[in-house]
Amino acid sequence: MDILVVLEGANGAIHRISKEALAAAQALGKDINQKVSVLAFGKNSDNLSKEASSFNVDEVILIEDDNLNSYSADAYAETIKQVVEKESPKFVIMGYSYLVRDFFPKVSARLQKPLITDVIGYKTDGGKILFTKQVIHGKLTVDIESKVDGPVLVGFQSAAYSVDNLENGSAEVRTITVTLDPAQLKTTSEEPFQEESGGVDLTAADKIVSIGRGISKEDNMSMIKDLATALKAEIGASRPIVDSGWLPNSHQVGSSGQSVSPNLYLALGISGAIQHVVGMKGSKNIVAINRDSDAPIFEVADYGVVGDILEIIPKLTEAINNL
Ligand SMILES: Cc1cc2nc3c(=O)[nH]c(=O)nc-3n(C[C@H](O)[C@H](O)[C@H](O)COP(=O)(O)OP(=O)(O)OC[C@H]3O[C@@H](n4cnc5c(N)ncnc54)[C@H](O)[C@@H]3O)c2cc1C
Repeated sequence: MDILVVLEGANGAIHRISKEALAAAQALGKDINQKVSVLAFGKNSDNLSKEASSFNVDEVILIEDDNLNSYSADAYAETIKQVVEKESPKFVIMGYSYLVRDFFPKVSARLQKPLITDVIGYKTDGGKILFTKQVIHGKLTVDIESKVDGPVLVGFQSAAYSVDNLENGSAEVRTITVTLDPAQLKTTSEEPFQEESGGVDLTAADKIVSIGRGISKEDNMSMIKDLATALKAEIGASRPIVDSGWLPNSHQVGSSGQSVSPNLYLALGISGAIQHVVGMKGSKNIVAINRDSDAPIFEVADYGVVGDILEIIPKLTEAINNL
């Protein structure tokens, strides 16, 4: 076997980040002339395998095992380990979601094979395959080559590849089994938490004032609300703001938030990580303010201001209110 893509499920279907990883694997497979297979297991694995068989892949491998019906890092890692030992793929690829971050390193440790995480692309150079990732908060990009024999595990970052590039096809499903000893499965998980319903619909907004970690503390959030009121804009945010609980989920823009295309997108103290940019790059006019002149957000901005948002935002609000 050449390339094995391991699927993650979400609400009974293939998770978007897994489809992106599959699109990456299809592109890699074409470039290096290797076949792509897919592995489906876990809750609703039957549905996942059916969905996967409609893509351009060599075959779909299905595992149905009651031990995999709810998430367990031990069971998931052991399953992939056994499949890799049986099928000997050269690459094992997953979309690097938060769940996958929890167990993919375990697979690497159990197999004693390298794991390259948060990959955003690859390059082929002669016989070499180099996987690209960003380091130091996106300031540098490095190319990594595995020098060991046997499989290399690769976790593709969310939004690194687009599901729009997925090629359709028709593949056979092959069912295999693994041996999981319940006594050795030390962790079980609870039900996933429910996303909130309702909230703001940023997709319909004409203007969005979007705030990132540059705001530094919750006390400063009031200045964003004042600016948004002055501009009659909705408030968007990068993920850390939502993770900190400073705004509800529905304000998040990006690959795991909303995709927006307002006339004006004001990106304040947002670095421009790919997962954020993918959700706002369709905006008509992007204005970025960041104190780091090398911040990646300036690559997508129509207008850029290098400066301190904590000084600029109150003055900007005052100027707009005086108009
Ligand atoms: C699976 C997955 C999904 C994700 N989904 C999303 C998503 O949907 N949306 C999202 O946004 N992120 C998402 N992320 C997180 C993403 O990778 C970044 O970590 C996040 O976007 C960074 O947010 P930020 O730009 O606010 O923070 P940082 O990267 O910390 O950047 C803060 C920026 O503020 C600037 N700054 C600091 N102080 C000031 C100041 N006083 N004045 C001006 N500038 C200042 C800094 O120079 C820096 O550029 C996801 C990550 C993963 C792994």
